[in-house]
Amino acid sequence: MRILLTNDDGVWAPGLRALLRQLAPEHEVEVVAPDKEQSGVGHGITVHHPLRVARVDLGAGVEAFTVSGTPADCVKLAFDALLDRPPDIVISGVNDGVNLGTDVLYSGTVAAAVEGCLFGAPAMAVSLDGRDEPGYAFAARVAEAIALRMVEEGLPPNSLLNVNVPKDGPEGVRGVRVTRLGQRRYRDVFDRRSDPRGREYYWLAGNPVDLETDDVTTDAAALRSGYVSITPIHVDMTDFESMERLSRWKFDRLL
Ligand code: MN
Repeated sequence: MRILLTNDDGVWAPGLRALLRQLAPEHEVEVVAPDKEQSGVGHGITVHHPLRVARVDLGAGVEAFTVSGTPADCVKLAFDALLDRPPDIVISGVNDGVNLGTDVLYSGTVAAAVEGCLFGAPAMAVSLDGRDEPGYAFAARVAEAIALRMVEEGLPPNSLLNVNVPKDGPEGVRGVRVTRLGQRRYRDVFDRRSDPRGREYYWLAGNPVDLETDDVTTDAAALRSGYVSITPIHVDMTDFESMERLSRWKFDRLL
């Protein structure tokens, strides 16, 4: 299988290396990843600056492309400029930290997978609840297993997978659950401080709060119960249920 790997933690991140170690022996792997951390940039693209590309040796016989842009830039460049032919599949991760519920709207990890999906490739974002080395290695094994199923079974158009892996590794994990995105909010979000010149500034911090905690169908609940969470997500954000209701709105002043 021909796999494009990317992430939002940057090309040197341990989660990307774990995927590389897991996948390079059996598959043809290409890496196109940001040259520095891009967590939280969502689906941003770079249009006001040039994108610089360099090659770095990541070991395992893989020379990566590093890009001075966002995860979405990386995937766009991979498909449109850098790779000789398109990959069979796109895997983004393994992210340092979960991407649950509404996190997917901010996540560069998920955005890279969405971009792969927009190019028509089966795509998956993988995130780990933690940052320890055995955890990354286990998440990479999970990613490969899911990737093989994903390619065999196929996904509907505009659909991709958001995978979150518990931190306990193979011993603590109870299985795999297909889930929906839960609702996640952040508390105590901004830290207000003063800079050395006495000017105020704000730093986004805060702790996530998962709502709907008693609903076992959510991604957060699955993860908390020790399951790998697989959420199919859809790129078309149209609210189809509201279309009919909105079509009855009157626009008297306009028409
Ligand atoms: Mn990240």
